[in-house]
Amino acid sequence: MVAAQTPRLWRARAPAVAALAPQAAGEPRAGRAEGGGAVRFCVDLDGTLDSFTAFFIPLLAAIKQADPTGAQVWVTVLTGVDHDPPVRPEEFDEKRQYLNELGYGQLYDELVLVARPHDENKAMWVTDNDARALIDNSKANVKAMPASCLGLLCWQTREDGS
Ligand SMILES: [Mg+2]
Repeated sequence: MVAAQTPRLWRARAPAVAALAPQAAGEPRAGRAEGGGAVRFCVDLDGTLDSFTAFFIPLLAAIKQADPTGAQVWVTVLTGVDHDPPVRPEEFDEKRQYLNELGYGQLYDELVLVARPHDENKAMWVTDNDARALIDNSKANVKAMPASCLGLLCWQTREDGS
């Protein structure tokens, strides 16, 4: 499901960046993607969610338990694909399956994939969607965040490139 209010730059980069909710046909949500006022909280997948499941599964489960509709905190899995644009539709299925296998199946509100360059495209998406936090294992991605977005680096799995 694509966000109802698609920002200008995101539309301009549509082949590179796209979003999808975890359920293809889920219940109506009150969160950010439907124009609500939730804080958008982004987490990277490779080297972040998949490297620290013992931390992130309880964290995201607690967020979902406290805010099941996503009205306050909208959890976005913001992850890259390892090639230039465009992002391919089947890549959403692959990432969703991977998230399911890791145990995150119902613990996020949307999946956003960006092609290379990841730092530039993640920063653009975060800016356009007014995200307020990103946890990522790429130094370049964290450094690229705008001042309005808290960037947290997973130090143990850090990598320099984007
Ligand atoms: Mg990563």
